[in-house]
Amino acid sequence: MYQPPTLDPALAPLIAALNPAQKEAVMAPPEHRLVLAGAGSGKTRVLVHRIAWLVAVEGISPHSILAVTFTNKAASEMRGRIEQLINVPVRTMWVGTFHGIAHRMLRTHWREARLPQNFQILDSDDQLRLVKRVLRGLDMSEEQWPPKQVTAYINAQKDEGRRPASLADQGDYAQRQFVRAYSAYQAQCESAGLVDFAELLLRAYELCRDVPTIQAHYRARFRHILVDEFQDTNTLQYAWLKVLAGERGILFAVGDDDQSIYSWRGAKVENMVRLAKDFLGTEVIRLEQNYRSTGTILKAANGLISKNSSRLGKNLWTEDGEGAPIQLYAAFNEYDEAEFVVNRMREHLEGRARYSDLAVLYRSNAQSRVLEEVLIRQRLPYRIYGGLRFFERMEVKDALAYLRLISNRDDDGSFERTVNTPTRGIGATTIERLRQIAREGGVSLWKAAIGAGPALGRSAGNLKQFLDLIEGLAKDTAGEPLSKVMDMTIERSGLRAHYQKEKGEQAESRLENLDELINASRSFERPPEDDEMNPLDSFLAHAALEAGEGQALAGEDSVQLMTLHSAKGLEFPIVFMVGVENGLFPNQRALDEGSLEEERRLCYVGITRARQQLYLSYAEVRRVHGTEQIGSPSVFLRDIPAECIVETRPRAGILRPSFAAGLRSGGGSGGYGSGAGFASREQRPRYGEGYNLQRPKVPAAPAYGGFTLGAQVRHAKFGEGTILSFDGDGERTQVEVRFRQAGTKRLVLSQANLVAV
Ligand code: ATP
Ligand code: MG
Repeated sequence: MYQPPTLDPALAPLIAALNPAQKEAVMAPPEHRLVLAGAGSGKTRVLVHRIAWLVAVEGISPHSILAVTFTNKAASEMRGRIEQLINVPVRTMWVGTFHGIAHRMLRTHWREARLPQNFQILDSDDQLRLVKRVLRGLDMSEEQWPPKQVTAYINAQKDEGRRPASLADQGDYAQRQFVRAYSAYQAQCESAGLVDFAELLLRAYELCRDVPTIQAHYRARFRHILVDEFQDTNTLQYAWLKVLAGERGILFAVGDDDQSIYSWRGAKVENMVRLAKDFLGTEVIRLEQNYRSTGTILKAANGLISKNSSRLGKNLWTEDGEGAPIQLYAAFNEYDEAEFVVNRMREHLEGRARYSDLAVLYRSNAQSRVLEEVLIRQRLPYRIYGGLRFFERMEVKDALAYLRLISNRDDDGSFERTVNTPTRGIGATTIERLRQIAREGGVSLWKAAIGAGPALGRSAGNLKQFLDLIEGLAKDTAGEPLSKVMDMTIERSGLRAHYQKEKGEQAESRLENLDELINASRSFERPPEDDEMNPLDSFLAHAALEAGEGQALAGEDSVQLMTLHSAKGLEFPIVFMVGVENGLFPNQRALDEGSLEEERRLCYVGITRARQQLYLSYAEVRRVHGTEQIGSPSVFLRDIPAECIVETRPRAGILRPSFAAGLRSGGGSGGYGSGAGFASREQRPRYGEGYNLQRPKVPAAPAYGGFTLGAQVRHAKFGEGTILSFDGDGERTQVEVRFRQAGTKRLVLSQANLVAV
């Protein structure tokens, strides 16, 4: 029978600030526990207190504890909090991310892991480069076997713990080729002493599974294994925990199935259910009291998540008051939205808020661009948490480098950046040779390339094509509006096709950033009268300046911008969730596939980051790929109980097709500041006070030839897509359709032969 140790009165504060369910978890006997609880109910806090309890009260050595968190930052915070709680240093305790801990093991046991002592870690870019080299060596063309796809395949296999030898030949040719590439890639890694991210985990897992001395060592050492954010562990991480725990290790996992947002990366929320089966005797503790958010915010979160069907089920409540209602703002466009955010920030800053109390959360990375622009203009210091600022992102810099080269052929930096991006068979040797010619002749790389000719052997043809590409672009874009220049450059350089071929969230995000760049350039099409520079140069200058401006220094008080994914586990007094509109959040793919549950969980994560005040906003018109598109408020807004939300201002008029058409022909290319699509603020129509979210907000759109806005249609050439807007009437009615493959097109409705799907 377990006898809890008597608590030294000096340690009373350790459990004083815990509620009964939290205490039960923290003071549990040394047995497996799963804390299954909603957002803000103190899971992370319980985990920290549990560790302090084990050390201070159960007398467990910090040396015997392994704690896994989601980020390195969380790990160091956790260590600090434990030391504060029990006032002893816990240096020997292992706290870190899965990758960090795996790395540490491999460094210690490099021999047993069959690695050279100085093995190097391959980051994602290095990995991709190596895969490309391997594919070349195997004569597998990049067109047929996109390197990103091959890389994703390799990583996915590793995440599932599969080595090439264990992949059965199912007679599928493509599958065999993938395995062949995986095999060759792995052989290269081994001979060069390289370890990619997925390999860190797989190696460490195999090390603990297959080397008896090591297994025995860690099993004896880690008597307690504690895991935060357990809902997002993948197959391999789970298997590793199991191997480490063995028969005697005690697992303490905390998680929330409603916050599982990484299934696209292999996370298995089922691990929560498996745990209780695999670790016999696991008791599940539920925490339902929330300490983070106001009653209103919680009610909204509960209402929303109750619409998901696959849930382990729980409800959050708080002793706190209702607090302020959630404010919903229907912006006219994305600039209006950003200005709304910044204005509200100013109001809070005039009150008691500090910059770091304010966070903006968005679904897609590309959304940060407009927010950054307005923040810079209004001189509010900001940081992008867990990511780069818009103009520092790789694909954005690539596209801009093309423009720079078009503007100035002698810009060597841009030449080097673009000459083989995307890859076009111009290797490092050729570039080195060009540098040499350039140095010797005292000329730019461009001039060196023109003069080099046959001296470059096999690459000469490829280089010639590159030179022709740039010259052709310069010629064909002359006199065109800047956004067209940008679009053509992204297209003809092959950048767009390059990312289209790749699959996965990251490639999609890069495509969105490229589209956003086209949007950004729109504002520069009509430079101010007194501007000496042409639009291209003034845009390039703008991009260079913004890349270096506004970013707060590390540790400086600043507004926090981040994607919803990177907000996991964090909390802020005031949260702005922007772009809450269909197609963006939930994203188009989820809408098309009708699978909204993971997106809804992401929305739940977003709402529950807010402590006191939550703002939601959406734009009625948003520029996507350089064209204005009419948005509709997110379906998730309807999942939130209407009484939780107030509109902060009477909603602007509904952009019915005919209305939108009139506006578009009026000032379609009007840049930011003028509120694209609206000639002036005064012209914005104002409708009556408030509206009921439960009622349809948009009057039924008139049917055009039997089609309505948002209808799914098929076109003989472009495939399937969604109707975004109609223009004009009668025979000349035009329809704007976003095709899944072919992008957005404007067609004459009577001739397009669209078929409803
Ligand atoms: P998430 O699911 O978002 O990761 P969580 O369940 O890990 O949330 P915590 O971050 O641990 O929740 O706690 C949320 C907030 O509530 C923190 O500010 C924490 O300090 C506070 N809190 C938790 N429990 C208590 C308590 N018993 N008394 C006072 N404050 C508490
Ligand atoms: Mg937490």
